[in-house]
Amino acid sequence: MVGSPVVNRLVIIGVGLIGGSLARALKAVGYCGEIVGAGRSPDHLQLAMELGVVDRTETDLGAAVSEADVVVVAVPLGAMRDLFRRLAGVLPESCVLTDAGSAKGCVIEDVRSAFGGIPDRFVPGHPIAGTEKSGVAASFADLFRTRRVILTPLAETDHDARDTVAAMWEATGAEVTEMGVAHHDEVLAATSHLPHLLAFSLVDTLSRMDDRAEIFRFAAGGFRDFTRIASSDPQMWHDICVANRAPLLQALAAFNRDLTDLARAIETADSEEVLRIFRHAKTARDNLYRD
Ligand code: NAP
Repeated sequence: MVGSPVVNRLVIIGVGLIGGSLARALKAVGYCGEIVGAGRSPDHLQLAMELGVVDRTETDLGAAVSEADVVVVAVPLGAMRDLFRRLAGVLPESCVLTDAGSAKGCVIEDVRSAFGGIPDRFVPGHPIAGTEKSGVAASFADLFRTRRVILTPLAETDHDARDTVAAMWEATGAEVTEMGVAHHDEVLAATSHLPHLLAFSLVDTLSRMDDRAEIFRFAAGGFRDFTRIASSDPQMWHDICVANRAPLLQALAAFNRDLTDLARAIETADSEEVLRIFRHAKTARDNLYRD
């Protein structure tokens, strides 16, 4: 617990998995005087109240952000531009604005276009944590514990605003790091967006095969492990893949090249090459996860 609230009024727009988990984590340590949940659906906001995730809810954006100290935008990427446009007219000048979007270049462009430039109190952010579930019912306070949060502050970003956002995420148990915008989008395209695209694509392909019932009947742990993330929200991942398409297509092209080489090695029964690839991948993954 922090001694007394660090942020007086925090507003979370989009109280879903990420926004709800942030609210729960900050509530658990008494970080805010008040957490206001804002969104489109009164039913979803009512659920957030019933679950004790937020202190108050608003469907009116102006009323929600009135006298806010920090506003966190945690809606799908495709909804950001319109939201920032509506925020531009009502956000208090002194308020720190941040977001949780999974790609950063697109969000920054949305903010630039909505506000006619980058507000100095805007701090782009991305928690590297999530599950295949969506909505406030799936949120939990420990989602960000020991996970990374990447901030991509811009030349215009005020240092105090950046420190405010970093301290907020640290209060959830996360480790905060900073990165350039383009670097963030390339790294996340390779490590997160490409694996999701591949999982969706594999399950789609297999589920359209004639003997799909037989295929899925005998699917074992490996299939389950590989495809868990294909249960993620299609709309959210559509938004991410389209918004971050340039780095994603680059990563996909590299993967396609290597997959074609691997297929050729298998076709020609080139055991040396197949084993070289598999051994290299096993070593890389074993080094990554030593559990
Ligand atoms: P989520 O569980 O589906 O929650 C999204 C929230 O946004 C809901 O509260 C939803 O409430 C609201 N919303 C949806 N469409 C909206 C619209 N058009 N206008 C206003 N509000 C809208 O999604 P999430 O997983 O928390 O993701 C939220 C953000 O975090 C996304 O930008 C995503 O890229 C990012 N992110 C996700 C993950 C992950 O693994 N899930 C990880 C890191 C970052 P209503 O429908 O009631 O409005």
